[in-house]
Amino acid sequence: MLIKSNESTTLFQFYMSYNDASYLLLGSPVEQSLSPLIHNTAFRCLGLPSRYAAQEIAKSQVATSIKHIDGEHIFGANVTIPYKQAVLPYLDGISPVAKRVGAVNTIYFANGRKMGHNTDVEGFLKPLSALGLQPKHVVILGSGGAARAVMVAAEEGLKASRISVVSRNLLSARAACHDLQIGEAWDFSSLDQLIPDASLIVNATPVGMWPKIDTSPIPDSITFLPSQTIYDLVYNPEETRLLQAARVQGARTLGGLSMLIAQAAASFKIWTGLEMPVDGVEMALRAHLSSK
Ligand code: NAP
Repeated sequence: MLIKSNESTTLFQFYMSYNDASYLLLGSPVEQSLSPLIHNTAFRCLGLPSRYAAQEIAKSQVATSIKHIDGEHIFGANVTIPYKQAVLPYLDGISPVAKRVGAVNTIYFANGRKMGHNTDVEGFLKPLSALGLQPKHVVILGSGGAARAVMVAAEEGLKASRISVVSRNLLSARAACHDLQIGEAWDFSSLDQLIPDASLIVNATPVGMWPKIDTSPIPDSITFLPSQTIYDLVYNPEETRLLQAARVQGARTLGGLSMLIAQAAASFKIWTGLEMPVDGVEMALRAHLSSK
């Protein structure tokens, strides 16, 4: 369900438009988001009456939208680009992880207080923990919202001794490293020095994402080692050109679908106290993505 409200939407109209929705996704754009499919599949699998709806909002609607999450009609929300930072002033508190990343992707109630949390860090780490990796040098491509969560995960979760942040704009990489006090900033011209030394390489840019599936953030001239793990946060396609090249060269690969499910499962657990039925959700996602 996708709802578009405008500035004159009243509180009553807002609730009526949601019908029985009890959880929201706030962002812009949200039309292509897979979060409604993930959460509504999980609610259905567990026989819960809850509904999850995507709400496209303008920047001027952030404050009112957060007010509408009242714990009586609407129990929680996800926040996506470009409002993960903009929601911070309207919450009663934020978790240490959200504070560290500087961005909220999950809103929930605890003891009557409207709280913000960030499940991207946990979602990123979950598929890696199954592999038992202890990477020394993590190279992160991109310096946006996802990259920042990966930087925190690399430092606090993976305890990496070296973290390199690579951006097409060196100033953006420097800003991310400065804000979080994590890592060293590089631009893409340094990839041929950085990649051979890396144990984990993470693509946190949209390069390779459908429909531009023939692109890769790492040029073909740079090769991978069997000891390296390449983790692409892009989930459509499931195997990006980057991952295909890495697999052929014998490196270990991880796609973004498992993180997508893991970060959603973490939000779901916070809201419902229940484990998300991830097998059912994964099946629904694969069916949806292959039908496109
Ligand atoms: P974002 O905040 O917009 O950041 C995007 C980053 O990618 C920026 O650093 C941007 O650099 C860089 N970039 C964009 N186009 C580029 C290009 N052509 N070449 C090199 N760098 C480029 O977006 P985000 O939220 O971090 O998301 C990044 C990617 O991760 C998206 O594909 C998203 O779908 C994926 N993601 C996946 C999950 C998951 O659960 N699997 C979760 C979050 C995000 P500039 O600053 O120079 O523009």
